[in-house]
Amino acid sequence: MSVVSIPVSESQTASPIAVIVNDLRDSFSTGYTKDYGWRVEQLKKIIQMTEEQQDKIIAALKADLGKCKSESWTSEIGFIIGDAKHTLKYLKKWMKPRKVSTPVAAQPGKSYQLPEPLGTALIIGAWNYPFQLVFAPLIAAVAAGNCAVLKPSELAPEVSKLIADIVPQYLDSNAIAVVEGAVDETTELLNQQFDHIFYTGGEVVGKIVMRAASEHLTPVTLELGGKSPCIVENSADIDVTAARIVWSKWMNAGQTCVAPDYILVEKSMSSELIAAIQAKLKTFYGENIQANPDYGRIINGRHFDRLVSYLEDQNVIVGGEKDKESRFLSPTIVLDPDLQSPLMQQEIFGPILPVITLDSIKEAIPFVNKRPKPLALYVYTNDSNYEEKVLTQTSAGNTCVNDGFMFMVNPDLPFGGVGNSGMGNYHGKFGFDTFSHLKTVMKRSFKFDVSLRYPPFSTMKLAILKKLL
Ligand code: NAD
Repeated sequence: MSVVSIPVSESQTASPIAVIVNDLRDSFSTGYTKDYGWRVEQLKKIIQMTEEQQDKIIAALKADLGKCKSESWTSEIGFIIGDAKHTLKYLKKWMKPRKVSTPVAAQPGKSYQLPEPLGTALIIGAWNYPFQLVFAPLIAAVAAGNCAVLKPSELAPEVSKLIADIVPQYLDSNAIAVVEGAVDETTELLNQQFDHIFYTGGEVVGKIVMRAASEHLTPVTLELGGKSPCIVENSADIDVTAARIVWSKWMNAGQTCVAPDYILVEKSMSSELIAAIQAKLKTFYGENIQANPDYGRIINGRHFDRLVSYLEDQNVIVGGEKDKESRFLSPTIVLDPDLQSPLMQQEIFGPILPVITLDSIKEAIPFVNKRPKPLALYVYTNDSNYEEKVLTQTSAGNTCVNDGFMFMVNPDLPFGGVGNSGMGNYHGKFGFDTFSHLKTVMKRSFKFDVSLRYPPFSTMKLAILKKLL
């Protein structure tokens, strides 16, 4: 079978998708993707593809998101190359049986978990990091020995087209397919039987995915989003805090699932913090941000209008400049927005940063806890007691003390949400485990076949069993 890319215009034909999935399932059933050599080859090909095609990847990201070369490299190209290299380095170790102890009652015997691939996976990507969010799950899926269908986001059309073009040139077409398209194609994909669905995107579609998966009892990983709070406590180093907030908020023009959504700061500190953020904005992007190629663009007109509507009747104290034609929205700060307004009820997912001032920083933890569990939570503080309070009294998929989303650079940390921000996780070994079934194995010996557990039972046997178990 060859890798098939289905253009949006052919979206009505459902059967080709079923054919693709069935072919992949057939491939998986032959067992060849379980081979260590096959996994290594695919990982090496992902690296080769990403390296050789990087100019085209950068151009596609520029066209879809106005992403600059440096961000494209660090958050997409370099991220994937690094992830694949890390996986290659440890794959043999991850594939090994994971031994555990065996209780006396089961002696002589051995107990272990044996990782085995789940089968054929569906990977649905989102548009904001459209290359990374398809290939990072794919690295985990092939490392674990699975076949996979990739469904890149239609909202990043140039990257989607490129993925459909290059995957068949490098990767095993019998095991990895790309299906392009939007709702119709994804719906048709979701009608098929998969062994795992890995979805990245918003909560509304996450529910659709989970509902569809339940029809086949397919396990899901949901990498969702939400409003990620950023608490700036009074003892924080304001200069470094401002630099890190500006970096993590305005990378990709704020269209990052783990960008700080809003800031919580004590009133007494807010002017100093806002002035420091403004100063960093100027240092990073200069006076004319619109002309700066390092600053990205909003993905499309619909999202641009959504973001602009969030600014209606708000106290915009920094930025607010916009140009619909080029989908430019400048870094914007809103002071003390109405908490019932869409700006504070929806995930912003754009370059607007509300700053909420509190009479006392003590109000920050209850503020966070009144809202759905976020994907990320940031706290900037030099006070270890306060840090401890935040870590133990709040819940979030990922927390970073004194920085933005730096946890993403550590493959030894799992990445995923909790509650409304998602379920399951990946990166490094955690991704391998997500796409594996850790099969329980116990091996017993034929020797010493103690009859205690066999009928006929007796009070004596039960007394001994009670001691053993
Ligand atoms: P999106 O519009 O690209 O949608 C995601 C995927 O869902 C796409 O592939 C799309 O084709 C598919 N889809 C859309 N509507 C569908 C439907 N009705 N039925 C079936 N499939 C459908 O992305 P989005 O939802 O706008 O993504 C933004 C959200 O994703 C934000 O909430 C963000 O925080 C979150 N996100 C999370 C992560 C993470 O790793 N946790 C990463 C990036 C984005």
